[in-house]
Amino acid sequence: MPDCTKNFNLAQQKEKIKYKLDVRALEKEELGRFLANLQEKPYRANQVFHWVQARAVQSWQQMTNLSVTLREKLAANFNLVPLKLMKEQVSRDGTRKYLWELADGELIESVLLFHEGDYTRKRTTLCLSTQVGCPMGCGFCATGKLGFKRNLTAGEIVSQVLDLSTQFKINNLVYMGMGEPLLNLPDVLKSIKLLNHKEGQNIGIRRITISTCGLVPQIEQLALSGLDFVLAISLHAPNNELRNQIMPVNRQYPIEELIRACRDYIAKTGQRITFEYALIKDFNDSLQSAKELAQLLQGIKANINIIPINSINQGLYRRPSAQVVRRFVSFLQEKGLAVVIREEKGSDIAGACGQLAGR
Ligand code: SF4
Repeated sequence: MPDCTKNFNLAQQKEKIKYKLDVRALEKEELGRFLANLQEKPYRANQVFHWVQARAVQSWQQMTNLSVTLREKLAANFNLVPLKLMKEQVSRDGTRKYLWELADGELIESVLLFHEGDYTRKRTTLCLSTQVGCPMGCGFCATGKLGFKRNLTAGEIVSQVLDLSTQFKINNLVYMGMGEPLLNLPDVLKSIKLLNHKEGQNIGIRRITISTCGLVPQIEQLALSGLDFVLAISLHAPNNELRNQIMPVNRQYPIEELIRACRDYIAKTGQRITFEYALIKDFNDSLQSAKELAQLLQGIKANINIIPINSINQGLYRRPSAQVVRRFVSFLQEKGLAVVIREEKGSDIAGACGQLAGR
């Protein structure tokens, strides 16, 4: 028999949250304005912001230095809705994948990765989702196969960090999970401001990376955002002929336009761009491709991440041998480009690049 209670509960939940503001999506100044309208003193905004963004409380009751009356007032005017954890998987390499249910019943995933950093400093990186599904349809990506349902709110993006922050010290963020972040720009930028806030999670701005498949007008907008996060471009092919086959966005914004936008971005921001290149066997892994890639990125302030692809789609996209990967990378390095091979993590739990499918 179908479980009707789930839909009923969801409908109740949706009704409950419809008319109230999500406190996790409010910047401190906004919170201050709303609290002033509720006749509360300015310092209350500091207290509430600290509880919400730094301490990541799950309920109003946990705000123990606020009176019961104030907590009731807050509960009457704002939502504080943590994500519902549906599943946690742990990979052999320690990577953890989380399946979350949102208030309207939609599902998203986040992936937590652990790295030994330089000078033995540990890095803990959370890969965040920004949309339910994705409309961009990249051929090698499991999220793209789901189609698009909706954008996440700033509160839902921030919540992926907050709901794990009580267990893990997260110090890097990559907006590379489900969805194309630049199609959800206002909420993505707001979430960055919240997560970077000194009185919140305080994640350094240069430790936050936004990745895009190559939406030129939004890259131009980003250059004016005034935020110094790292921009990553999912390039994945050195020419239009190949890129058209795996990334439909390339038909709208061909590679020359994309590279022109990247050069303008660097000129305006002074920042280096990261280019992601998923290496696919017998598709874009030849020396000829390496040569074209080197020519394309010559003179650009760039870091190149080479990612030997994770197989999806019944082996249609296959991983090149270690020898071919090394040959490709050495060629680029000999041309003076800054290249690293990105270590694959979490592939046994479908948590690696291109594998997130909300399951
Ligand atoms: S790679 Fe990114 S932009 Fe492309 S379909 Fe997947 S989630 Fe969307």
